[in-house]
Amino acid sequence: MTNIRIIKTCPLNLGFLEDNLEINQSKTPGLCGLDGKPTPVAAALNSLTGADSATEAMSHARRDYLAEIYRLQSSTEVPVTTTAVAARLEVSPPAAVKMMRLLAHEGYLRRQPYKGVRLTPKGEREALRSIRRHRLLEAFLVTVMKFGWDEVHTHAHDLEAAINDQFEDRMDELAGYPARCPHGDPIPTKDGRMPALSEASLLTFPVGTRGILRRIRRHTPDKLRYLAEIRLTPGTPITLLNRAPFDGPVRLKTPVGEQVLGADMAANLFIEVAT
Ligand SMILES: [Zn+2]
Ligand SMILES: [Zn+2]
Repeated sequence: MTNIRIIKTCPLNLGFLEDNLEINQSKTPGLCGLDGKPTPVAAALNSLTGADSATEAMSHARRDYLAEIYRLQSSTEVPVTTTAVAARLEVSPPAAVKMMRLLAHEGYLRRQPYKGVRLTPKGEREALRSIRRHRLLEAFLVTVMKFGWDEVHTHAHDLEAAINDQFEDRMDELAGYPARCPHGDPIPTKDGRMPALSEASLLTFPVGTRGILRRIRRHTPDKLRYLAEIRLTPGTPITLLNRAPFDGPVRLKTPVGEQVLGADMAANLFIEVAT
């Protein structure tokens, strides 16, 4: 694996870094915005594959950082701050600084002193590979293994470190070459491109807009279960009926009737306007 090779050629003291990076495998950063509880899957797989070595832990952590920086930088033109990365990954700012220094040293990031970082083309490629693997795993777990969409994020995160490209290709095939994860996040192509999206947050549209729900951006398992209960899943046609002022509730028309959502939740529903 490329990652492992890179680590081995890095002259930094990895034992020291590992002690100081707060690599907490029980944390599940949100490649697609979901926070989840740890599962025993990673531990079981690690014991089968011997993947619990320092290098594997490092590469898993490294992928988490790159994917998260990709997510953060895709919504802004300015450099991504260490504080933002630390907050998203739930690590301390000093731990994030150390990891980001390492990633810059390896050529994945460009650091701008006192400003933050941007991914280099190499970093972006690695981030997209990681995001592809995560979202494909989620699609596979729902389509083939019949897990619920509220369950798969944590499993996918745990499994990412344990599979290889061949495994990934097979999942892709068995899941029917999905274009999106079960939450509607686009799956980067095999050659490392992120598909262009034509959807935006429901709250950016005027009352009366009709569209198709494409993506649930930030989500937790309980919110996903609720959305499934009221049939607000990707692919559902909806109409924005009303929106109360001052971030008040939002009223929607769905195929199964009218629904009222809080502004916070509505902001995370991304729709593609019907033409
Ligand atoms: Zn996910
Ligand atoms: Zn997802």
